[in-house]
Amino acid sequence: MAKFAEIIVKIHNLPDDRSFTYRIPEGMKVSVGSSVIVPFGKRRVTGYCIALTNHVPPEARTGLKEIEALSCELPLLTPELIRLAEWGAGRFLCSRIDLLAAMVPPAGRKTGTHRAKLLKEARITAAGREALPRGKKQKLALDILRQTGSLTLSQLAGYGISPATVYSLEKKGWLLLEEKESRRNPLVNLKREPVAAPQLTPSQKQVLEEINKDRKQAKTFLLHGVTGSGKTEVYMQAIAKRLQKGLASIVLVPEISLTPQIMESFFARFGDRIAILHSRLSTGERYDEWCRVASGEALVVIGARSAVFAPVKRLGLIIIDEEHESTYKQEENPRYHARDIALWRAAENGADVILGSATPSLETYTKALQGGYQILKLPKRIADKPLPAVEIVDMRQEMKSGNRSVFSRTLSKALWETLQAGKQAMLFLNRRGYATFVLCRECGHVMRCPDCNVALKFHNTTGNLCCHYCEYQEPYPKTCPACGGIYIRYFGAGTQKVEKELLRLFPAIKVLRMDADTTTRKGQHQKILESFRKGKADVLVGTQMIAKGHDFANVTLVGVITADTALNLPDFRAGERTFQMITQVAGRAGRGTDPGRVIVQTYNPDHYAVLAAKNNDYEAFYQEECERRRQLGYPPFGTLVRLLLSGTEEKTVIKTSYELAALLGGESKLAGPSPCPLEKVRGRYRWQIVVLDNDLSPLLLRIKKAVNLFDSSSVSSGVRLSIDVEPQSLL
Ligand code: ADP
Ligand code: ZN
Repeated sequence: MAKFAEIIVKIHNLPDDRSFTYRIPEGMKVSVGSSVIVPFGKRRVTGYCIALTNHVPPEARTGLKEIEALSCELPLLTPELIRLAEWGAGRFLCSRIDLLAAMVPPAGRKTGTHRAKLLKEARITAAGREALPRGKKQKLALDILRQTGSLTLSQLAGYGISPATVYSLEKKGWLLLEEKESRRNPLVNLKREPVAAPQLTPSQKQVLEEINKDRKQAKTFLLHGVTGSGKTEVYMQAIAKRLQKGLASIVLVPEISLTPQIMESFFARFGDRIAILHSRLSTGERYDEWCRVASGEALVVIGARSAVFAPVKRLGLIIIDEEHESTYKQEENPRYHARDIALWRAAENGADVILGSATPSLETYTKALQGGYQILKLPKRIADKPLPAVEIVDMRQEMKSGNRSVFSRTLSKALWETLQAGKQAMLFLNRRGYATFVLCRECGHVMRCPDCNVALKFHNTTGNLCCHYCEYQEPYPKTCPACGGIYIRYFGAGTQKVEKELLRLFPAIKVLRMDADTTTRKGQHQKILESFRKGKADVLVGTQMIAKGHDFANVTLVGVITADTALNLPDFRAGERTFQMITQVAGRAGRGTDPGRVIVQTYNPDHYAVLAAKNNDYEAFYQEECERRRQLGYPPFGTLVRLLLSGTEEKTVIKTSYELAALLGGESKLAGPSPCPLEKVRGRYRWQIVVLDNDLSPLLLRIKKAVNLFDSSSVSSGVRLSIDVEPQSLL
């Protein structure tokens, strides 16, 4: 047993994270990867053991503190994950400890000991089988156990047998008491109807043959398949092939609570070999699932972003479904991208990777064209079902002809026809917060949050204007505070407004609404989707959360209320996001036997992203978007790092930004310092410097150097610096 352990600890004000040597108390089972509680200064903090040793020179031993406790019996981290943190810290310019903390389930992060719930189980012994006890209850207990072999104490209690009886039988050697872990299983509520694999289509077969070919070298595939082309089936059969060899797979999905269907099909195919890891599980459930993965009991892990850290031992395959989704990038520390982590782990383990998407990110597609990934295509829907026709409606024309409703004439007519035919429709709005701002039609004044400087949103239920970054609210103004005019109205439409207008047009229909307001409680997503699937409503109105993965056979019409909210984001990926959004949303229509129809309303009908999505022409979009990005040196032609500075005093933030910019010197191209599009959030002013370069690694080194200098020279306290390598958005 080693006497000392290197423990890396979470201390917020350390500039760089460091590890410290601690004594291991007699009898404590600390191993590499253990999560422990240690004294640090006057506090107790959580730490992770990254190495064990006996070789601490005697003079260095004095004053060493002892580890206080193990916060978890099992080591939560594997040596591979510890190496990953080392690499990741350099790749994403974050601290190792933040990555390690993101890897472990929350139970291992707290300063408190967590264990799996233990159940006592009684098992009959050979002597017990022959025994003739005197007591009636003892006789009953042994009779039952002769039949069943073993039962838990609570099961025995069900037969009226008390723990006291069990203990006295144990004393006589007639039964053994063992502790068994009871696992909280998040899948217990899922229906389990075993489903056999369908006959593959010729294209699926071709794709799968490539993926399942025996090869010496692992490979990364880009599975570029239109919506409804049967990518999920390919994933499942690729996993099955690895399972036969005893190899584990990790499947990442953009947001698991929104994709119950994927979970159900995987569960039906693989049963108990599946573990699910995501943040909507309770702490206990997550811990138990984690243990099932670590112990090798579950070989197929499904989860959102953080499941990429699943502690599987024999990794054979990582699948990233909808690889272009921005949710794979964590938007807070540590700002890692799950795709990069997946590629690193695959390389370490000799595992294959499948990146699946109908609209691959520019980064991935470019890498694939350069030969980095093998491209596999599923160009058609299953059973040659046609992709729905996408119609673009020019909202400027509607305005000109006097239609001020949120529904164009084309969309309302299509809705009417759909409802007449007994079919369902989905109406889609881009994310809230950008949708319903209040604007004075006379002077153009927009109502903003005094703290966050973002447009306030009108809430129908309270009649108030609310800020979505902080708690600020104010009543709806009667007159414009800038010009005193009376034509101050909310502009654009929120989900509530669409619902209301819809009911005005079609008073007899049933409408379901799905947005952040109607889904605050656990399980509400599923409820809404389930009742829509069962046909309990005619129209589902929602934000982008309805755009993903769902497969509703009876939906024949999908409407995008306005494509402009996505197009007008102050972000270089706005075009890409719009293309992806329209394609995804269109993918929801016509999944059943009837063809689908998609109507997209916009004030920018000639935008290339809108047109390419209409024509389902990924290549055209890719070429056009590449041309624009190339000119500006944006990814994938260059790489970006965003340095965001924030503080409560604007002057200090600006001054500090310029100091940092000076340290970055002339070697890279800088944009800024400039105020962020979201200039102020929660009372903090935000300024940014965007650093552009052709190559990532030298850029990272240069920034690291500048930031170290900045840390030691920065006297102006109160300004926080956050570094985002390859940011998903610049808001
Ligand atoms: P994607 O993920 O590419 O959008 P899905 O995997 O959701 O597509 O597949 C669309 C539908 O086709 C699903 O209902 C799926 O069960 C079905 N499907 C997939 N493969 C086959 C097949 N070989 N034969 C019949 N149906 C299939
Ligand atoms: Zn605010």
